[in-house]
Amino acid sequence: MNQLMRSSRRFLSRLFTFLAVPLGAVFLFTGCATVSESTNSACSLFDVPPDIADAAKHDSVIASFASAFTGKTIFLDPGHGGSDRKNKSPNGLVTEADINLKVGLYLREMLVKAGAKVIMSRETDQTVELKQRPLMANNSGAQYFISIHHNAPGKPSDRFTNYTSTYYHATEEDYEHHPSNRDMAKFVNRDLAFNTGRPAGLASFDGTISDYLIYPGDGFAVLRTINMPAILVECSFFTNLNEEIRLADTLYNKMEAWGIFKGLGKYFRAPVPALNLKSNTIKSGKKTLEIAVNSKQPVEPWNIRAFANKEPLPVEKIKFANNVITLDLGDAFKRETEVKVIVTNKAGLSNLPFIINLTPEAN
Ligand SMILES: [Zn+2]
Repeated sequence: MNQLMRSSRRFLSRLFTFLAVPLGAVFLFTGCATVSESTNSACSLFDVPPDIADAAKHDSVIASFASAFTGKTIFLDPGHGGSDRKNKSPNGLVTEADINLKVGLYLREMLVKAGAKVIMSRETDQTVELKQRPLMANNSGAQYFISIHHNAPGKPSDRFTNYTSTYYHATEEDYEHHPSNRDMAKFVNRDLAFNTGRPAGLASFDGTISDYLIYPGDGFAVLRTINMPAILVECSFFTNLNEEIRLADTLYNKMEAWGIFKGLGKYFRAPVPALNLKSNTIKSGKKTLEIAVNSKQPVEPWNIRAFANKEPLPVEKIKFANNVITLDLGDAFKRETEVKVIVTNKAGLSNLPFIINLTPEAN
């Protein structure tokens, strides 16, 4: 009996092996065939968003953002390039400078189609000094600055880490911090992470990070001296082995650009409060500024902050009624005074940097 059982088990095991190999092959083949139907490519390490895979859908989404982008000038800064090509992926499939440029060029194409004007720090593999980049942007007439990078971990042997993060300059308590940069970073990071399928970094709850985390009190060179809303995007980690393969695929680079494009478009559509100087006078011996607030979402008086020469203005010097802020700046007419105002509405969005420089005048 035992002998019989052993031989029948042997038979079953051989039968299984005999069937399993071809069945497995059929399974793999059909699995691959399903993928290739939707992406027009072999099995891949990423899912292509439908509005990238379908050209007509892609164009209609771009057209839907036309009102958000028309009239805007955006400066794109693909990081590194030229003599700076040292950041390479572990198996040499990609160089960071090249993928930054690819994403930048795809993004330009999308933005221009949507009606924006785009200026770039480089359009080819050329050297542009780090300090030169914000200067170029400041002199370009652009209104928004986006620096495009890919990341590497602090520990060079780390092949696991891979996330999407977007940097803004300084921290809340620093005068140089403009909350609108963080707002823009939130929108861009969310759509970039979603469209590529990478998670947002864990350094914050939304993947946005202050550049002070990397260079305390100093921040990134490209964000420090910029005079317009600015962010630096670290799309993903070229040091991760699967990511390196994805990044070597131009379709994936296009998906990265798509994420930045959609995030930016959604930010431009968002109810960001706008400030406009209404009057600048001396009333009863006090320098008085009236600033009109245009916000689709309510603004509470306690969400208005004002600074005179970097010092917070006391609450009693800030009045808010009928969507007009009135600032009592005392004897500010006697000296040069830089006035900065930050309004955050109920949607949690803050105005673009609003700074007025007052010159001394006779009372
Ligand atoms: Zn970089």
